[in-house]
Amino acid sequence: MKQTHAKQLEVELIAITPDPQKVIEQAGRTCYLSFDKMDDNSQAGFIKRLIKMGHESPLEHAYTTFRIKNCSRAMTHQLVRHRLMAVSQQSQRYCDEEDFTYVIPESMPAELVDEFHNDMKTIQDMYRKWRDKGLKKEDARFVLPNACTSEIVVSANFREWRHILTVRTDKGAQWEIKKAAHLILDMLKKLAPACFEDIEPSN
Ligand SMILES: Cc1cc2nc3c(=O)[nH]c(=O)nc-3n(C[C@H](O)[C@H](O)[C@H](O)COP(=O)(O)OP(=O)(O)OC[C@H]3O[C@@H](n4cnc5c(N)ncnc54)[C@H](O)[C@@H]3O)c2cc1C
Repeated sequence: MKQTHAKQLEVELIAITPDPQKVIEQAGRTCYLSFDKMDDNSQAGFIKRLIKMGHESPLEHAYTTFRIKNCSRAMTHQLVRHRLMAVSQQSQRYCDEEDFTYVIPESMPAELVDEFHNDMKTIQDMYRKWRDKGLKKEDARFVLPNACTSEIVVSANFREWRHILTVRTDKGAQWEIKKAAHLILDMLKKLAPACFEDIEPSN
């Protein structure tokens, strides 16, 4: 039996709309037919004004896709509640979970970590037992824990990312989804600063 607690949570950028701020400016300026005001330096100010006045629909023209790895099913269950996001997730119906990896809660006291590992091993034994008794993966998975790691690919437009990142970097958000949201926000602030730099995590 492998000791299989998860590695660090990882977020990888898979795709982004090419030149997203230019796309948003072109879309937004269509509303005002103000193309004559476009130049090499006009994007940031224009987009920030849109956001300030709550005219955020032009931000829907830019998309990003991320792959998130080594996160728990507890975390992905929260993430997939965002209905305007497209999701593809590792399936427990089709993927074997005999040696599932798992996330240890950050709050776990060091002296209790071994007990947690033992509980996970017990569940791995239970899963294997039910597979050996002939249950399909889709049914043996009923004994799996929320701690089980998952891999998920998520796509959303910038308006939706602004919403997700605002609520999921708030101090009230759960620690693991907050960690993923911080990593995504850091990337998006670099890739499209005018669209995301006003989002200040409250920690
Ligand atoms: C701190 C925290 C605690 C939470 N606790 C719980 C909990 O205990 N139990 C629980 O079940 N959930 C909980 N949630 C999940 C929460 O209720 C939402 O389901 C989740 O945050 C998805 O976000 P959303 O609904 O704002 O929007 P998304 O699905 O991301 O949609 C974005 C926006 O589009 C609009 N929108 C989308 N669909 C509709 C619609 N059908 N009608 C009208 N407007 C729509 C809304 O303005 C929405 O904010 C929690 C979330 C947070 C951040």
